[in-house]
Amino acid sequence: MWYYLRIVFLVIFIGGIPTWIRVLSFWNRSCDYFQTLIDPDPSSDVYDFIVVGAGSAGSAIANRLSKNNKVLLIEGGGNPVALHRIPGIAYEILNNPDVDWMYETIPQKAAAFGLKEKKMRWPRGKSLGGSSNLNYMFYLRGNPLDYENWANITDDATWKYENVLPFFKKSLVYNGRFADNKKHYGQSEYGNLYVEAREYSPFREEFINAGKELGYTEIDANADQRTGFGDVEASIRNGSRWGAYRAFLEPLMYRENLKIAKYSQATKIKIDKTNRATGVFYTHHGQRKFARANKEVIISAGAVDSPKLLLLSGIGPRKHLESLGIRVKVASEHVGKNLQDHSAVALMPITIDKPLSLMPLRDFTLDQVLKYWMNGTGVFTNPSAAGAQAFISSSIVKKKGVDWPDLQLYMFGAGFSETIVDDFGRVQGYNESVLQPILAPMFGKDGFFILATLVRPHGRGEITLQDKNPFSPPVIDGKYLEHPQDVKVLIEGMKLAVKLVEETKSLGALGAQYQKTPFPQCDHVKWKSDEFWECYIRHFAFSLYHPTSTCTMGKVVDSRLRVNGVRGLRVADASIMPVIVNANTNAPAIMIGEKAADFVRDYWASQYEICPSESILMSDVETKCYYSQLT
Ligand SMILES: Cc1cc2nc3c(=O)[nH]c(=O)nc-3n(C[C@H](O)[C@H](O)[C@H](O)COP(=O)(O)OP(=O)(O)OC[C@H]3O[C@@H](n4cnc5c(N)ncnc54)[C@H](O)[C@@H]3O)c2cc1C
Repeated sequence: MWYYLRIVFLVIFIGGIPTWIRVLSFWNRSCDYFQTLIDPDPSSDVYDFIVVGAGSAGSAIANRLSKNNKVLLIEGGGNPVALHRIPGIAYEILNNPDVDWMYETIPQKAAAFGLKEKKMRWPRGKSLGGSSNLNYMFYLRGNPLDYENWANITDDATWKYENVLPFFKKSLVYNGRFADNKKHYGQSEYGNLYVEAREYSPFREEFINAGKELGYTEIDANADQRTGFGDVEASIRNGSRWGAYRAFLEPLMYRENLKIAKYSQATKIKIDKTNRATGVFYTHHGQRKFARANKEVIISAGAVDSPKLLLLSGIGPRKHLESLGIRVKVASEHVGKNLQDHSAVALMPITIDKPLSLMPLRDFTLDQVLKYWMNGTGVFTNPSAAGAQAFISSSIVKKKGVDWPDLQLYMFGAGFSETIVDDFGRVQGYNESVLQPILAPMFGKDGFFILATLVRPHGRGEITLQDKNPFSPPVIDGKYLEHPQDVKVLIEGMKLAVKLVEETKSLGALGAQYQKTPFPQCDHVKWKSDEFWECYIRHFAFSLYHPTSTCTMGKVVDSRLRVNGVRGLRVADASIMPVIVNANTNAPAIMIGEKAADFVRDYWASQYEICPSESILMSDVETKCYYSQLT
């Protein structure tokens, strides 16, 4: 009886999540539509700052700047739906056009052979909070050397690790395992971004101990990251997702200075004859609007849409813009170039002989629902049953004599439920006919996945426009695994994963076994040889959803994030990273938002306002006031 009730619950609740999201999104959108019939039109006002995109970075910027300035925040989506809050169903929320831009790459030449049409899926958040509403909530900052590198590239010491650390800490309320470490955590009076240790972390100890058996030390990956095994802490509060919306926007829904235009897609930045950004064209519930900014426009639309908006506004490679009939305002050859992303590949299938992994049909019980509901604990607090992680330096890095890992391993304690092939097909875009023979023999068995991630890729992709229609998705070419070194590093990742499974007592005690199952596409090479791993990786590596660097600092924007060649325009989000960080990218994007707000405030604190006489004011609104540097 209970068994059947559970199946009914799973079908209605978990299976029905996409439908629930559609219904709740429709409700949110309708409410906003009717609200806008009552409220004054935000575009009728003039703002100090306009921020485009309410994602991880944009939410932080809008929060900080609206304290003392009039800010308009333009966001393509609406309020996040309540289901986003449950970490355990994060995987089910992806691929829903109401909350996800659902981008994908063009067919890849050297990767994605086992994915449909050889395209990688690129979910991107479309709601207040942006991709922090879709992400898996891992809280990571990166390696100190990442930021040393940024400071060297930009020749600006404000990007050094010791100078970005305060901006990570600024937004933080830390309830994790390392609270005693005041240098890296401390207590911020501005904080509202909650981070905590995961209460449910399957195989955490076993994985960390397995690493120790192989000679690695236990680390806190957020405190001067180095090689080692350790915890994965998360942007969660009492088991509930704590993304940028809840950290930065929800607390100030009634702040007078902050206007939020939801369901509003920016289509172009207005740049006047003197090359100054003066406002933003956008559509709101399908209607065309224009909003004016007195001081600055800040683009925080993420690594896909920020370069897209620059290109649509005539800032980009001359030839590309001219080929699409877009008038060139500023020829900027690097817009959309230098695209970087983390690609990842899971060692599978690994089985265990104990019923300890997460199996939805078995473990999503009424008891667990109540546990989550009442206490915020249990299996629903953890997306994909993430247990622990490791940062590893490949032999290539070791030869250079630095401790700057280029591989990240994750332990995901999920077993092989009967729906796994469909789930991987839907989310990662795997071709079910390639995956089915590998995983089907394991259906119903407990197990886990070790995911190897390339955290310092050498390959560089690009984003271009397919046409000048702002509603067309851009052309994304990740150029994954085209650089030979990238494959070599992932091969080392696969071999280390096998070693952990086959040669350590800690995982051996679970009965862990890496299984050989049919994989005809790579049968022509010896199982577990380097050639096999290369074939395997080129079939199964997927995007870990961390695109960066398409409006790169030092080339498209300067080190204060001002767009080169245009006044009054900045870009501030993951797109400005000159080199992708050695970590998941949400906390770094928020740090960039915090720093951008500081740059903007510092700059305007040193300006004074000059307003011409009344007659000029009446004849030409555009020349109402201007600003001059204090001497
Ligand atoms: C599935 C998934 C899992 C991830 N897991 C993790 C993780 O566990 N840990 C981690 O650290 N990182 C993770 N990431 C990455 C991380 O969430 C992102 O790098 C980060 O959120 C990027 O922040 P951003 O501000 O650059 O862009 P976003 O947060 O994407 O914000 C961009 C915002 O701009 C809006 N927008 C875009 N175009 C327009 C337009 N024209 N007009 C108006 N608004 C527009 C979007 O709707 C969005 O709200 C994950 C990402 C995904 C998608």
